[in-house]
Amino acid sequence: MHARSAGTVRGIVQGVGFRPFIYKLAVRCGLTGFVTNTSQGVELEVEGRAADIDRFFAAVSDEGPPLAQISSIERSDDIPVQNDREFSIRKSRAGENRSTLVSPDVCVCEDCLREMNDQGDRRFRYPFINCTHCGPRYTIIRDIPYDRPLTTMDPFKMCPACLAEYEDPGNRRFHAQPNACWECGPRLELRDGDGRPIACEDPVGETIRRLKEGGVVAVKGLGGFHLAADAQNPGAVARLRGRKHREEKPLAVMVRDVDAARSIAVLSRDEIEALSSRRRPIVIVKKQEGHGLAPDVAPRNHNFGVMLPYTPLHYLLFMEGGFKALVMTSGNLSEEPITIDNEDAVSRLRGIADAFLVNDREIHLRSDDSIVRVVDGTLRHIRRSRGFVPVPVQLPEGLSGLPPVLAVGAELKNTLCLTKGSYAFPSQHVGDMENLETLEFFRLTAAHLERILEIKPEVLAADLHPDYLSTRYALERTELPLIRVQHHHAHIVSVLAENGFPGPVIGLALDGTGLGEDRTIWGGEVLTADLTSYERVGHLQQALLPGGDAAARNPRRMALSYLFRSYGRDALDLPLPFLRGLDPTEARLVTRILERRVHSPWTSSCGRLFDAVSALAGVCGKNSYEGQAAVELEMIQDEPDKGFYPWSVQGRNPRILETGALIRAIVEDLLRGVSQGVISRRFHNTLIELFSSVCYEIRQETRINEVALSGGVFQNASLLAGLSRSLRERGFRVFTHSRVPTNDGGVSLGQAVCAALRSREL
Ligand code: ZN
Ligand code: ZN
Ligand code: FE
Repeated sequence: MHARSAGTVRGIVQGVGFRPFIYKLAVRCGLTGFVTNTSQGVELEVEGRAADIDRFFAAVSDEGPPLAQISSIERSDDIPVQNDREFSIRKSRAGENRSTLVSPDVCVCEDCLREMNDQGDRRFRYPFINCTHCGPRYTIIRDIPYDRPLTTMDPFKMCPACLAEYEDPGNRRFHAQPNACWECGPRLELRDGDGRPIACEDPVGETIRRLKEGGVVAVKGLGGFHLAADAQNPGAVARLRGRKHREEKPLAVMVRDVDAARSIAVLSRDEIEALSSRRRPIVIVKKQEGHGLAPDVAPRNHNFGVMLPYTPLHYLLFMEGGFKALVMTSGNLSEEPITIDNEDAVSRLRGIADAFLVNDREIHLRSDDSIVRVVDGTLRHIRRSRGFVPVPVQLPEGLSGLPPVLAVGAELKNTLCLTKGSYAFPSQHVGDMENLETLEFFRLTAAHLERILEIKPEVLAADLHPDYLSTRYALERTELPLIRVQHHHAHIVSVLAENGFPGPVIGLALDGTGLGEDRTIWGGEVLTADLTSYERVGHLQQALLPGGDAAARNPRRMALSYLFRSYGRDALDLPLPFLRGLDPTEARLVTRILERRVHSPWTSSCGRLFDAVSALAGVCGKNSYEGQAAVELEMIQDEPDKGFYPWSVQGRNPRILETGALIRAIVEDLLRGVSQGVISRRFHNTLIELFSSVCYEIRQETRINEVALSGGVFQNASLLAGLSRSLRERGFRVFTHSRVPTNDGGVSLGQAVCAALRSREL
């Protein structure tokens, strides 16, 4: 039977080779008709035998091009037959070809790599080779529609050969906006440490030579500059670390291929899959013995952050340089945003980099490398950025008709989040909002996302904390109503939203810090919550944060605080090794602060409890990066010990989860000479027991059988896996993060969803 059907395909379907795919598919199925880009996505009509039309629609969803992400296909049958003679790609009408879903930046594809390595190809060794299946997207878009003039490829006029590819529907580069070649595209240039051009025929070869000599080279990548050094050269790595003033935080490494990754790390199948995915995140994996990398790459750490090459340039450096692994750390000064601009790179990284490998393709919006880790069989984001942004998170049903929201996120690891219809768009990693550079980047990102996603927010959402720069930004935008969302409620809403569960739920928000309704600092919270409201039904017993924020950088202070709470002044006389290592002046100072309770807010933070135990046990007394004490405490655990420490739960609503006995028991273990590894294990066991039994009690009262886990402390893999398992064994349904980070990078999503729903009451 001869018939005609129409279809609308929504999702990421523009700029990814979708129309040529439809064209080829229709021809293969023997159908006529047309396809075109519209504001909806892609619209098409096909005509032919009914069976062929069915075959066609089945293949649309099964076989789409690699970068397409189809969110829905609408099909309507039995429209009037037109008797077209062929299938055609129709030009989209001006101003109409815009869809708000943009593809993220992904790694170079196999076909492009093959061409780059082919001496006979006109793009042999061309470091910016790309096609509709690969290459830059989000980082080069200035505005939508995603067309070359609105990207940073605008200044490059395509040569006739590139243009011919661009206009040929049968070509892999049909409408590939960043299409370029040696003739017409961006070029590399090597500059010396002061930014002066280095005359050389082959900047790649010269860069390799310098890296081999132990130099540090700043390399412009997709979303920003990396600082590169040969990871097998101890001198080079030490130099990089010293110049960057990065004391102990692990440096990410890029390895040649999966085999090289296997030679430095123990990899599961899931981890290999994560490493090789087009998004090319940094994957946190366990070091392999005899890995052969310089010790300074990740000192005091059992793990490496590893990624595979993702730009054509990376591949050239590895293939022609023969490196096994290169340190590739973001090119920035400790807390500032990653550098993207050539001149800016020289001025900010002078003295750190010996040379700069730059190019003339501008990065419009910076995007750091994403960081993931496989925990409990699931991929978890530690940082969701390049390769993932701007892919939206689909919101639970019932949230579609709500006004668009801009949520400004937390302070550390800031992201922002915009909502529109049933989508939430978390931004890339913005960073720690502690300086004006980061605030400026925040403003830029907000404006950019509003523009390219065509979202005019009607409501703002921000944290309760008045001093967060993100909150201040929201307060400045007085034209919009502002909804404040408590930090830990936002954490829990975030995990609910990404799991499509509206609550009610028992929420465990185990975190570093966050301002509570009572103006104390929360962070070890048991909430009963849904998407709009919560009750604080329990929390860890409070301790003083001696000297406020300074205590977060100084785990020894927290240890003293907890000891002081349990032993009073006698704490200082305990024969504990960690006390002997303490600077007497500082000990006196902290004791005085604790006694007088000046500048010392109360906190129920679980992160600070980890700090205290880590310092107390002599594992880590100083956080040279956020969370270091907790990370090192997690790593030294001795697996077999099943013991745990005593605890008690006092009161009701909120229940106080007392930790005094826990601290005393740890002290006793220490005095008995029990090893750090066993103490750490028992401490983890205790938290797992404590929180799962509290959930059990709360279920008795509330009949809530769902538990949501969120907050920075759940970056601890053994706590996340152990608590999830323990809760499941008790019959709970457990929700955890897999789409946005469990740390403060995920807070903006929770704020956005909570505010969108609460705005109905405005
Ligand atoms: Zn390609
Ligand atoms: Zn060209
Ligand atoms: Fe938090």
